[in-house]
Amino acid sequence: MLFVQTVKIIMEILKTFDTHHMIDIDIIEGKPFVVSTSCKVHTDMVLEYFCSDHDTLCCRSCMASAHRSCEKVLPIEVSAKGVKSSARYDEIVEHVTTLNSAVNELEDKKRQVLTTLKESKLTAKQDVNNFKAQLPKRNQEIEAALISEIDKIHTDLSNEANENLEKISDGRRKIQNIAEQFEFVSKHGSESQIFMLINNIKEELNCHANDFHQLLSSQKDLSVSFKESDLLSFMKSFGSVEIKEASLDI
Ligand SMILES: [Zn+2]
Ligand SMILES: [Zn+2]
Repeated sequence: MLFVQTVKIIMEILKTFDTHHMIDIDIIEGKPFVVSTSCKVHTDMVLEYFCSDHDTLCCRSCMASAHRSCEKVLPIEVSAKGVKSSARYDEIVEHVTTLNSAVNELEDKKRQVLTTLKESKLTAKQDVNNFKAQLPKRNQEIEAALISEIDKIHTDLSNEANENLEKISDGRRKIQNIAEQFEFVSKHGSESQIFMLINNIKEELNCHANDFHQLLSSQKDLSVSFKESDLLSFMKSFGSVEIKEASLDI
């Protein structure tokens, strides 16, 4: 039975238990049974009759007004004869039973909801914990990738720089050789020898000077550095908390 229907029926039943009309109280097996005997319209009057035309209980004042032209108005004791074997009685019994089991089912479901809710809290917390536990591993992977990238870039750059250094050293040795030769001839050679040397090395020297200028212009100061991302500033959380809803299957 649908929840809304159940509530409507409960409301209808509660209406009949308006406390102003609770009069006959018997205590049976420790539970009070309340049967209203006063008229809802004429609150100081007692219900004494049943009108079959209107299918309602009524008092003397009701009879004199609303049911004056009704034909089937009988005293309650007469109408009540054999009530337990009437269709109306069976109907009410079935109605109360159905309602009772529906309310019980709803109550059970609601308790289950609370249990499930509590379990889901624990699961959600555990999930956060599990996810957090994955972060160090992921951090290590990211760290390893960055370290390896730094190594690779360093290897490439230093290889290139070493090649350049080779060229520079080579040039340096050649120039040094020329300088030593020149110094020796200047010191010990004749003017003719010095003159010849100058002419001999002129071209070679120009060539070395060109190479040197070329090398010099292509050399750069090199270093590897790590630039942090702004991950930490925009990382407010590593997930979100959500509410899941589904209708109860009743
Ligand atoms: Zn009345
Ligand atoms: Zn009537």
